[in-house]
Amino acid sequence: MSQYVKEENRLNDIKKYDIVVERLENRGVVLEDIAQITLDLQKKYIPNLSFEFCLEHVKKVVRKREVQNAILTGLELDILAEKGLISEPLSSMLLNDYGLYGIDEILAFAIVNVYGSIGFTNFGYVDKLKPGIIDVLDKAGKQPGVCNTFLDDIVGAIAAAAASSIAHRFAD
Ligand code: MG
Repeated sequence: MSQYVKEENRLNDIKKYDIVVERLENRGVVLEDIAQITLDLQKKYIPNLSFEFCLEHVKKVVRKREVQNAILTGLELDILAEKGLISEPLSSMLLNDYGLYGIDEILAFAIVNVYGSIGFTNFGYVDKLKPGIIDVLDKAGKQPGVCNTFLDDIVGAIAAAAASSIAHRFAD
């Protein structure tokens, strides 16, 4: 095993991977939804890029401990807000996806940060365009009692990070 692969593995948490994937599914997101966004982001730069390759990179992102920690934290806050277990004034900000709250994006930065500055560029692009499942989550989050405030940014960040991972791979 090369030194590079060992370093990569040290940042992974295989035990938590299944829990994180299941938590995302419970919130209506499968990794395939995220891979589709990654494919849409990167296909204009890489001809013949396959969906399976994108899915592989989405899984690679979700294996990272730092990414898992961000996902677990964000999803927990969305769920607690829905259950009415968060006090004011934070409760209303989360349930109404208050535009100037901003901490949902900050948390998502922990995910895109893993792949350097190109991650931030891709995330900004996804955040503006709201492609695929992100638009679905955004609209669902506007229903009373539903909170997807952190989830939409988490999904966008994973897609952006996977796109960045692919870009780095093709640069090699
Ligand atoms: Mg948000």
